[in-house]
Amino acid sequence: MRVTAQETLKKYFGYDCFRSGQEMLIDSITAGKDVLGVMPTGAGKSICFQIPALMLDGITIIVSPLISLMKDQVNALTQSGVPAAFLNSSLSGWQIDKVLQRAKNKAYKLIYIAPERLLVNDFLQFAQFAEISMLAIDEAHCISQWGQDFRPSYSKIPEFAAKLPKRPIIAAFTATATPKVREDITDLLGLNNPVVLVTGFNRENLYFAVQEPGNKYTALIEFLRGKHNRSGIVYCATRKAVEEVCAKLKSDGYSVSRYHAGLSDDERRDNQDDFIYDRIKIMVATNAFGMGIDKSNVSFVVHYNMPKDIESYYQEAGRAGRDGEPADCVLLYSNRDVQTNSWLIENTQGTEYPDIETEEMLKERSRKRLLKMNLYCSTKDCLRGYILKYFGENPPSSCRNCCNCGMNYETIEITTDAQKILSCVYRMREMYGVKMVIDVLRGSSNEKVLRFGLNKLSTYGISEKSAKYLNEIINQLILKDYLIKTTDQFPILKLGQNAIKVLKERESVQIKFPKDEQRFVAIDNKQLTTRQVNRELLTALRAHRTEIAKAQKLPAYIIFADTALFDMCVKTPTTKEEFLKVSGVGQIKLERYGEGFLKIITDFLSSNKIETTSSIEANALSERLTETTEEFVTVSTIADKINCAFMVNGGDNNRISGQVINDWLVAKGYLTITHHNGKNFKIPTDLGASIGIFSEDRVIRGEKVKVNMFGKAAQELILINSIEIARG
Ligand code: ADP
Repeated sequence: MRVTAQETLKKYFGYDCFRSGQEMLIDSITAGKDVLGVMPTGAGKSICFQIPALMLDGITIIVSPLISLMKDQVNALTQSGVPAAFLNSSLSGWQIDKVLQRAKNKAYKLIYIAPERLLVNDFLQFAQFAEISMLAIDEAHCISQWGQDFRPSYSKIPEFAAKLPKRPIIAAFTATATPKVREDITDLLGLNNPVVLVTGFNRENLYFAVQEPGNKYTALIEFLRGKHNRSGIVYCATRKAVEEVCAKLKSDGYSVSRYHAGLSDDERRDNQDDFIYDRIKIMVATNAFGMGIDKSNVSFVVHYNMPKDIESYYQEAGRAGRDGEPADCVLLYSNRDVQTNSWLIENTQGTEYPDIETEEMLKERSRKRLLKMNLYCSTKDCLRGYILKYFGENPPSSCRNCCNCGMNYETIEITTDAQKILSCVYRMREMYGVKMVIDVLRGSSNEKVLRFGLNKLSTYGISEKSAKYLNEIINQLILKDYLIKTTDQFPILKLGQNAIKVLKERESVQIKFPKDEQRFVAIDNKQLTTRQVNRELLTALRAHRTEIAKAQKLPAYIIFADTALFDMCVKTPTTKEEFLKVSGVGQIKLERYGEGFLKIITDFLSSNKIETTSSIEANALSERLTETTEEFVTVSTIADKINCAFMVNGGDNNRISGQVINDWLVAKGYLTITHHNGKNFKIPTDLGASIGIFSEDRVIRGEKVKVNMFGKAAQELILINSIEIARG
């Protein structure tokens, strides 16, 4: 009987259920259809071609541009008992011969290959006679000139497919694709009426923050203080900055290495390995680092400089938290970053444009992208929302997991400043850039201002505000369509569609401003880091994993991801059957490693006299987390659920009442107390409303009362924090 996709998932990868979209793509491929999967980094694209590869007859060829990724994936597959190999320039001639020889003998189900090797003679010859059932294209956007990583070698793919005696199923995957790039992928790869899946780009476990610190290095150190022993990447814009930041961190005692294109191949490889194998914790790098780094336990990505566009930012930041654990993505912004990026756009070297029109068109596109990136750093609205909107989604107004959603803002009236700025732009005939507008407003005697006679305008010198403040307000006005910043080489300010409302109709303009003077302070990701596992057990399991990894010369996360170790702490299995239920444990890993890990767990349990309180609580927690419902429910329903879980899990000393939950919600600012008909009611605040709590009027026993109803996000918040709530 044929094994199902679900069985294959558990057997080889150890997971119990598919993530959103995976099953649909797998089913389509196994039914013989071409597919295009557009899923964010970390969503689990690999499994979408690895599982069909195992289920289909014959071989799957995976084209990937990234040498390190191939090695990593082949290591991980081999560990899980899947026969796989790779072919790229890191292998010597005879190693390639050996792989091909074995492949001819049907030793592999999957072969990863770099695109430039596809048309090399020996491989082509092999491919002519092999039974190739699927051609999977990773990072498929590299085929499009519209993508941000165009690679000419990708054009060899359709040529290769055309040379095969039988056309295989073609499955393409990418993490970033605008509709135009998607079209290109379909056309250029010759996908045949593909099943297209675009999953949401949201990565819930990532916390986003932007800071504009006076001193970036101090801000970085401040941030790292809370990240003891965690792996992370610090991206810098230039090699020079990488050198400086890396040297400073080293002298301040951090476990750190560096990566940029100016280093020798050997050093780059060694440094990368040090990071992957957890020998060093922090990698300071340019954007040359990371493509194809599959390391699952990267728990933060700091951008020391603002990248050139949101695509690059989301891709780089997305390297954090691939294991699904909470992770931080922090961008340290300064206005100079904008200037550096602008300069790079105007002075791009090494890019050969076919003609001047194309050059201007491509530069114009880069300027537009840069402007959007810049505005990300200025927005006071939800940062996640900003990114998701950029990728064409329609997110809720608040995510509760970015610095803007967590910030205490007050609304400030800036109508007068807005009027001054807009009228100045108007009087300057919409012909000048931000700097000149600010100079005129502040009455500068700058040579250009005088030469153009701008000192004669009625708006000359009408503002006493600082240039930094005016710059900030101008950005806010752009975000709200009061102003437009053009995207030519020398961008100018023009009046936006809403300007008339302020200039003619005297509409009031308000912006949100952080209440605290210091705009960006602590990064608090506690909400999600409530994993309640026994630290002692986790440390013992980690140490055992390190031993195995060292002995096998493999990165630790290839043996077991952190999530699997967490799940072992939660489930504390003592038999092989129970061990198999741990997420990330498949048949082969059970056989290879089960005994060692089981021994650590049983030793721990017996020396701690069976289950510890925290594991009971964690168990309850993990069970309960799956119990939220899409329907709106009352607080007593939630309390019942929690109490039920506590009892099932061994004790009822922590009983929770609706009253206790409500008090907690008031303390946290989700509810507020109000008087109505001589009575006190707790009603949702704006924050409460943003997580889906609303108040309903009801008549109970002839009396009018307000009853709060809780949506899914609100239920989750309460369930996640139920232990804290129960403890008062
Ligand atoms: P992508 O290629 O989309 O960036 P990966 O394929 O590297 O993402 O997957 C990211 C992580 O998610 C990996 O550690 C992978 O094992 C894990 N993963 C994938 N699918 C599942 C699933 N169904 N259940 C649990 N974990 C999964």
